[in-house]
Formats: sequence, structure tokens, C-alpha cells
Amino acid sequence: MLYSNLFTRTRKQAPKDEVTVNAKLLVQAGFVSKLMAGVYSFLPLGLRVLRKIENIIREEMDVIGGQEVYLPALHPAENWKTTSGWDKIDVLFKIKSRTGKDYALGQSHEEVITPLVKEYVRSYKDLPIYVYQIQSKYRDELRAKSGILRGKEFGMKDMYSFDLNQADFLKFYKQAKKAYLKVFQRCGLTAKVTEASGGDFSQKISYEFMVLTKAGEDDILYCDKCEYCINLDIAKTKAGDKCPKCQIGRLIKARASEVGNVFDLGSKYSKDFNFYVLDEKGKKVYPIMGCYGIGVTRLLGVIVEKYHDEKGIVWPKTVSPFQIHLVSLGDDNKVKNKALRVYQELLGKGIEVIWDDREKVSAGEKLAEADLLGVPIRLVISDKTKDKIEYRERESKKIKLLSSAEILASL
Ligand code: ATP
Ligand code: MG
Repeated sequence: MLYSNLFTRTRKQAPKDEVTVNAKLLVQAGFVSKLMAGVYSFLPLGLRVLRKIENIIREEMDVIGGQEVYLPALHPAENWKTTSGWDKIDVLFKIKSRTGKDYALGQSHEEVITPLVKEYVRSYKDLPIYVYQIQSKYRDELRAKSGILRGKEFGMKDMYSFDLNQADFLKFYKQAKKAYLKVFQRCGLTAKVTEASGGDFSQKISYEFMVLTKAGEDDILYCDKCEYCINLDIAKTKAGDKCPKCQIGRLIKARASEVGNVFDLGSKYSKDFNFYVLDEKGKKVYPIMGCYGIGVTRLLGVIVEKYHDEKGIVWPKTVSPFQIHLVSLGDDNKVKNKALRVYQELLGKGIEVIWDDREKVSAGEKLAEADLLGVPIRLVISDKTKDKIEYRERESKKIKLLSSAEILASL
């Protein structure tokens, strides 16, 4: 991509109306733009990162047998009345049509996926089924001040599993948990997993995937020796206590952001929609469902919270909008021709590169912007670099002078 073609711009200063690092940097660097509290537009650079994250998730969901769909965001009120969500869910956006009919904007999709799967499934032989989508969700959130960590409109991957019995469900549940950890790890994050039973009336287990960050909205306790972790909201223990699991470590209190969670839904939704299959003996069975969410846009924000310095963002390679940020300094024709050759060579090798080819922009400005954008490798061509290219990794201060062949070999 040519920088001169990009319609967006970076800002000299971080926006004053944002309080979190993720929002300040993402807006300043021109990755997102705020439409109103909790609602952001994704700009060309931000969208590239979002797509990378989505593709990592897609790959891992496909590995465990997920089938991707894309469900509507606009739902008939009846579906939400069927499950009592219409009256019980306070974040549900409700819309009245001029015809008098009521609609809801999807805050989750059990109300759509359950009747949809019911349409196609007849027999126990059709199960299990794992369906997922990556889509916008709408929630009337009151505290939308954490940048893209909490939106009123936000991206989510939601998967739903339909199993014949609890044993099959638990098998998949375990696989999904592993796949989740893999997703976060591929995004450069380590997630701690809290285990909680879902309320008084059930023994159902749910897991929350928590990434430690000051910008998070959850408080957790985790063991300094084993993987034990619990949300402070429901904990009977406190910071400093001996770990109830390994009995060796101590519990540490930390702020965290929930980047994903998985729930055992039991047969609540299959019963609500009267969705059953006949088992081998011809007996009615209501499928056991699970739901599996990842906050895709929140995840992007958490990555920025974790990977930045005083100059800007420092993207992990796996989600960076580009692999290389090429900068040509000065408007000398020789320099520009050389940069053009390098740019084309990199593109020819399938390397994603943004070339700051702008004229009459100072070296200081170009280099500061490269730091702000946070692409892992910066290449500089100027009349000082002669037949070499200046190579620097975003996270290090070391500068090397390399030939283009040496650079290509190192990639
Ligand atoms: P939270 O406790 O943070 O409100 P939740 O329990 O409501 O989350 P789910 O309904 O299970 O979350 O949604 C799945 C995932 O979607 C969450 O783990 C989180 O990563 C993300 N998420 C939830 N609400 C928001 C939001 N308002 N903005 C951005 N991401 C969100
Ligand atoms: Mg919520």
C-alpha cells in the first residue's frame, strides 16, 4: 500500500476525549475513528488488523469442526419473547417499526441459531453440530468509556454447539477451551482461565478467558504457582490466601479484561424452541447446547494495551497490518526509484508492505509516524544509505545496514 493513497491521517496528539491507551493510540494512529461513545469505525489500517485476528479465530474454529455462517443482526421480537430475553435482558436494543412491529438488534444469537439448526436437523445422527459466525453485536451498555474494549456495537465471534448428550458436549467443551487458548496465544496474549458455576440454580461450568491489563474491567485472583484463577465477583478467597487448588501458591489480585468465555447452556434454548431429535430408541432428546464467545474488537484493544511504548503501538507480527513499513526520505529521484524497486520486490514475494512515499514530508515526521503505526520492521532508504537499506525492528533500537537480498533472506 502506498501511504500517499491512504485517505486517513495520523494526529499529532492523542484525542482528549479518550481515557484508555487503546483508544488514544488507535485513534491517533488512524486505525479507528469514534462515531460516538462505544461506537467506532474501522479505517483501512485498523480493518487489516481486525481481519488478521478474525482469520486466526476462523482457523482455530475450523480445526475443531466449526462451520461458519453469517446471521442477521435484525431479529423479530417473537424469538426474544420465546426465551424471555425480551423482558429480562437489559442491554437488548429494541426497535419499533413504523408498521408497529417490534424488532431486536442481536446482542447474542441463541435466539436465531436454535430455530435455524432445528430447521435442518431431524435425527440424532445429524448431531453434533458446531456453528459459528463473526459479526457485530449490539448492546445498550452504560459504561462505554474503555475505547473499543466495551462497545455498544462491537465485533464478536460466537460459536454454538449442539450435542446429543452431556458426555459429547463435555468432550467438545474441552477442545474449544484449548482452541481458545491457542487463539489468544497466536495473538500474542496469555489468557488465564477462570472457572465458575453459572449461578445458584445450576451446576453448569463456565470459563472466562482473562488477559491481565490495567484497562480491564474485571478483578481476578490467580495463583502464582498453578493455573488456578477465579473472578473476584464470586470468590470466597482473597488476595494473599493459599491457593485452594495446589495448596502451595498464593493468590494474587489483578485487573483483567475478559476476551472470551464459554458457557454450558444445557437444554434451555432447545426446549424454548421445542427443538428435539429422536434417539436410537425413538425417544425425544433435547440437544445440549454450548455457546462460545470471543470479543474480536475487544481483543484488538487488549493487544494494544499490552503492546505499546511511549512512541506508539508495537504490533505482534501475527496481527500487524503490514510486515514492513518502508520509508523513503527526501524527494531525490534516485532514492525514490530505489524505494520503488524495493517496494515492488517485496510485493512480488508476497510480503505486505506499506511504503511512505509522501513528498515534502520531513524525515522526523515520517519516522515518528512509523513508530506510531507500530509495524514490526522499518526499512529506510535515503541518500545516506547508499546501496544499502536501513533495517530496524520496532521493538529494538538497533539499526542495521543491509542489502535488499539480505533483508529478503531474513524475512
Ligand atoms: P462483559 O462481562 O465484559 O460484559 P459478557 O459476559 O457480557 O462480557 P458475553 O456476552 O459472553 O460477554 O460475550 C462474549 C465476549 O464478547 C466477551 O467475553 C467479551 O470479550 C466480548 N464482549 C462482551 N461485551 C462486549 C462489549 N460491550 N464490547 C466489546 N466486547 C464485548
Ligand atoms: Mg456484558
